[in-house]
Amino acid sequence: MDNIKMVDLQTQYHRLKPEIDAAMQDVIESSAFINGPAVKQFQASLAEYLGVRHVITCGNGTDALQAALVALDLKPGDEVITTAFTFIATVEVIGLLDLKPVLVDVNPETYTIDTEQVEAVITSRTKAIIPVHLFGQGADMKKIKDIAERNNLYIVEDAAQCLGADFKTDVDTQKLGTMGNIGCTSFFPSKNLGCFGDGGACMTNDDTLAEKLRMFVNHGTKIKYYHETIGVNSRLDTLQAAILNVKLPHLDDFNKRRQEVAAFYDNAFENIEEISIPGRNPDSQHVFHQYVMRVQNGKRNALKDWLKKRDIPSMVYYPVALHKQKAFSKWMTQDISLPVSELLTEEVLALPIHTEMTPGQLEHIKNGVLSFFKK
Ligand SMILES: *Cc1c(COP(=O)(O)O)cnc(C)c1O
Repeated sequence: MDNIKMVDLQTQYHRLKPEIDAAMQDVIESSAFINGPAVKQFQASLAEYLGVRHVITCGNGTDALQAALVALDLKPGDEVITTAFTFIATVEVIGLLDLKPVLVDVNPETYTIDTEQVEAVITSRTKAIIPVHLFGQGADMKKIKDIAERNNLYIVEDAAQCLGADFKTDVDTQKLGTMGNIGCTSFFPSKNLGCFGDGGACMTNDDTLAEKLRMFVNHGTKIKYYHETIGVNSRLDTLQAAILNVKLPHLDDFNKRRQEVAAFYDNAFENIEEISIPGRNPDSQHVFHQYVMRVQNGKRNALKDWLKKRDIPSMVYYPVALHKQKAFSKWMTQDISLPVSELLTEEVLALPIHTEMTPGQLEHIKNGVLSFFKK
């Protein structure tokens, strides 16, 4: 069996090599390394693809989240609601800006925010909700939009893991990441649309917010050397934009390949009693940034070891719920209990999923998992 990887960036590169190499060479020849033409072009192409007015690129997805909270003029002590079961960055930026993270639990099937719990934690200081479209599918944006409207809250979508996924509303279909006040995404190499280093972007339909976001990621300037506010230096390199320009037209195909792998796993494991295959939100497409199943009865770690012996990698996303992280202890004063998030940290297991998986690899993984439960 050839080397199975969680994500195979090398084979994908080889498939696109002539185009990518040419695009990179063009940037190097022009030497327009910062804010070169490829950056503007990528912003325009991604905006068109997503059907959103503005895409503002920046240095990474974490900076995109930070820029969003700054652009919304949130003040120290303002409360932001999100989940305890997400990548650290979502909550980290809330703390970094001295806002107060208010963490709620997730749905045990879809792993996205449990909207039933949101209203119970809203106070007069609550300013925003950050739904995380975890592992590639949308949180329940219909309910979240309804809650936000009734309580006058902003929505910042964490769309780092779901780029390209459609969401069905009652009237139309929209891309995840374009449905809130601001959407944030990441082009980290392993994400559904990845560059060759760090990269990120904010999406918005609001012209005023777009201007604020653009200023924040560029030292608070509109005109060079005239600084109206304090900002940061967070830009998408022209080289990364050139790579993304090559890859964006392939995004739908990349996501389709991920969905095919997921369908294979679903089919292979749905009848194993001690496995729960990932549940689906019926309104959302799932573009499977990760295929995360649950392994019950305390068998997760044993399965992980079993697979490892058969050269099958697997990962635990995420091993610690964020209300249990030392970094956030200052805000978790009451002993909060989020039982679903805590259970998931014990049960979740992510199997390899990427755009280059072969039928032979999939069979090997299937047999590895089935043999564990037959032993
Ligand atoms: C990757 C990721 C981020 C942060 O993106 P970076 O580009 O790594 O800074 C934020 N939120 C989620 C859910 C992510 O998966």
